[in-house]
This record gives sequence, structure tokens and C-alpha cells, in this order.
Amino acid sequence: MDKAYYVTTPIYYVNDLPHIGTAYTTVVADTLARHHRLKGERVFFLTGVDEHGQHVARAAERNGVSPQEWADRMVVHFTDVWKKLNISNDFFIRTTSPRHAEVARKFIQNLYDKGDIYPDTYEGWYCVPDESFWLPSQLVEGKCPQCGREVEILQEENYFFRLSAYADRLLEHIDAHPEFVEPEMRRNEVTSFIRQGLTDQSISRKTLTWGIPLPFDENQVMYVWFDALLNYISAIDYGIDDARFESIWPADVHLIGKEILRFHAIIWPAMLMAAGLPLPRQVFAHGWLTVEGEKMSKSKGNVISPYELIDEYGVDAYRYYFLREFSFGYDGNFSRDNMTGRYNADLANALGNMVSRVLAMVERYRGGEVPEPGSAGEETDAVLKQAAAKVFGEVDAYMEKLAFNEALQAIWSYLGAVNRYVDETAAWDLAKDPALAARLDTVLYNQVEAVRLTALLVLPSMPGTAEGIWRRLGFSDSVHVHHLPAAGAWGLYPAGQKASKGDPLFPRIEK
Ligand SMILES: [Zn+2]
Repeated sequence: MDKAYYVTTPIYYVNDLPHIGTAYTTVVADTLARHHRLKGERVFFLTGVDEHGQHVARAAERNGVSPQEWADRMVVHFTDVWKKLNISNDFFIRTTSPRHAEVARKFIQNLYDKGDIYPDTYEGWYCVPDESFWLPSQLVEGKCPQCGREVEILQEENYFFRLSAYADRLLEHIDAHPEFVEPEMRRNEVTSFIRQGLTDQSISRKTLTWGIPLPFDENQVMYVWFDALLNYISAIDYGIDDARFESIWPADVHLIGKEILRFHAIIWPAMLMAAGLPLPRQVFAHGWLTVEGEKMSKSKGNVISPYELIDEYGVDAYRYYFLREFSFGYDGNFSRDNMTGRYNADLANALGNMVSRVLAMVERYRGGEVPEPGSAGEETDAVLKQAAAKVFGEVDAYMEKLAFNEALQAIWSYLGAVNRYVDETAAWDLAKDPALAARLDTVLYNQVEAVRLTALLVLPSMPGTAEGIWRRLGFSDSVHVHHLPAAGAWGLYPAGQKASKGDPLFPRIEK
């Protein structure tokens, strides 16, 4: 069996509600997963939640419930919004699941047996919300360098992971596989951090009970990040079902936000090296989103819930906007005006209006029945077919680079060619002269065929829209059962099938 294409999002912390940032990573992962499925590949797409740690324990206490009850209550916010956003994850991992604990305990026991985990005394500055220890030199004006909040001094006997032993091997790996960390600026950040020297990491806590107990010292629990990283292999049965694990691992890409880069590009690969496991092919860190030019924060009250925008614009417009507007890997700014502008120009006009014009003409001139092409092709037909022939390859190349905005630009440039074809061939003029009926048949067929390809092109980013176009084209099956490259060949629309215009795909939004 071929290894599955394996894509992951970070597991999201149950204490936070999903916002447009978490939704961004998840939509990107979903689009990648759907793109690979469309190519006929076996895919495993994983997302989930991170449920352990002091922060969860404290929130549970404040709310007068057990940490498990708190996690059970919070997880619904994620599963609900992913359902609403049409996220097609193959599994949803919860770190409180017994299987996750079993894998995590096996994994850590293995590292302990190999001598990569050892007991020592830890003393340091600790940021509770971030669950991070900091060196005195890392503090900014005595506060957490990551979030700016107060830190507290903490001393305890616990267990350490011998991260320092892996610095050279990590650098060698990145050198030999530069694509391991993307974009390049993040790779440079990682290599310069490793060159400064890596220190062994405390990986357990004695003062906390909400976590996975260490198999070799049941009085301590794993640090939340240590157990969290293991979700990527516990979800696919590491140490439980070898055949399954090997048919999915290593991950093709871990999609992450830049704030968790070091965990994923330094500590995680070192943990895997220690366990003798292959490393993921790529860790891709994206930037942060600002809202109307400002950083999103609870205190500013500008945290946007995906629901708000989905209700306003629709699921597919939501997915499209974030994929199209931001250059994946870099920071980007969300603005409502900008979203409305893109909606009207790209979705209502270039896409929705084109589909509706084409199908309306089939209804008007041929009673909805798509005719057989009736005349020899002309130059304009050749131009359209050329655009169709090259767009799938272009999109695939951009998707390989995770350049979603460029992939969509390529699709929209194809839509531009379709719209030009509709204008230039002017079916409404052909329809006036019965002597041109054969030419009209050809033009109508070509337009409909161009719309069929459009459904396949937008499927990964806008699955609902792809299905909507497919239904309007009169197909009784789902667009999702078709695969590229076969389905992308020109001329597969079955002449004689009935198509109908239906409701507008994207009704204009008045500002
Ligand atoms: Zn902090």
C-alpha cells in the first residue's frame, strides 16, 4: 500500500475558543487534504485538541468542574466549527484519550530506557499561561518574553530530555533537507537558534496531576507540550499497529503557527531521532493575522469568531478569502471591506456570474439540453482549450509549494479566459441566425465544459461550491468521486445532459 499523504494542524488548546487564526490553519490543511484526494491519493488529515496542562486544570477549578469535564465542554467548540467549515479531517485527536496516553507512555519509556531522559533538579522562571520556562537572560523587563505576563520562580525535581545531544544531527538534517523548515526565514531562525547551543529540556511536572503519568515515575506527569507533540504519532497507532503506522508516517507536512516553531522544528525532530523514527518531510510555519491592522487579542476585544464571518459571507467565501488574501507563511491583515470587495469581484462576478450566464444561455437557446459541438473549432476555441490544458498543472505546482494564493490566482486567470470566451463568441448574436446553429452548439458546449472543469478546480478550496456547480451541470453523482488528471481532460461533459442555472452561487453583497 502506498504511504498516505499525511497532513496535520497543531492540536489546539481547549482553553481558547477557535478564532480566525486557528480556522486559517485548519482550512489550509483541509484544502491540501482535498487537493491530494482529488489527485486520487490516499490521505490522512489530522486535527484535534490539546487538553492537558496547568492552564486547563486552573480553568476547570475556576469553573468548579473536573479538568476532564472542562475539556469535554470545550472540545465541542472545535468540532462544531470544523463541521461548519466543511473540514474533512480523517481523525480528531484528543490528548485525554486512552490510546494517546498509551502511546505517549510507551514512547517516553523507550527514551528513558535509552538514556535520553534522566532526572535532575530544575529551577527557573515559569510562565503559567504559556507553560514555558525561561532563562533569566530571556526575560523582558522581568516578564515572559512571549506574552509579557508575570513569571514565577519554580524549583522541582523532574525529568529532562537530552535535547543538547541532537544539535549537530538537527543541523545536518536541515542542511541536507532545506525543505524541512519553511518558509526560509523560519529555517534561518531555527538554525541560528540551534547554533547558539541547545539545553536539555525539563519534560515532566511533579506539582501537577492533570497530565499523563510517567511510566517510570507515577508521581510525575509529562509536560503538556511533550505529550501534545506525540499526538502526531498516537493518532496513527505508533507502537500499537505497526502496519498502520508505517502506511502513514512520516507526516508530509505539519502546518503550524510561527509561535510553536521551536517545538516542531527542534524538539519534535529530536524526540523522533531519539526514538529512531523518520522525521516529518516538512514543518511549515505560517504568520499571524491582524484584524483591521491590529493584533488580535482578548483585551482589545477584536478576536473574530469564524461563525460571525461564515454567517455573513458563507462557508466557501470564508475559505476562499483566507486562502486567496494571505501569502501562506507570512503575516496578513484581515479587513471586512477587503473581504467584501473580494467576495463581489472574485466570487459573485468572475465565478458565480460566469456559471450563471453560461447555464442561462443553455436554458434559453437549447431548453437546458447541452448540445453536441456542431462545427469545427475556431481560434477562440483553441485559446480556451489551451487555458484549460495548462491550469491544472499550474495549480498543482503552486499547491506543492503551499502557495494557495497563487494557485487561486491561476484558477482565476483561467476563469478570466472563460469569461473572455463567453464575451467574444457572443452566443446571443449567434442565436439570432438559424444558419449559425451549429456554431452556437459548439460555443455552448465549450462554455459548459469550461464550467465542468471549474468545479474540479475549485473543489479543494470550495468543496460546497464545486458540488453546487456539479448539480447545476446535471450530474447525478458527486464531484468528489472524480479524480485528476483523468477528469481534467477536455470534452468529457456528456452532450445531451440537462443543465440548469439554479440560484446564484454567490449573491452580491451590497456594501
Ligand atoms: Zn507567557
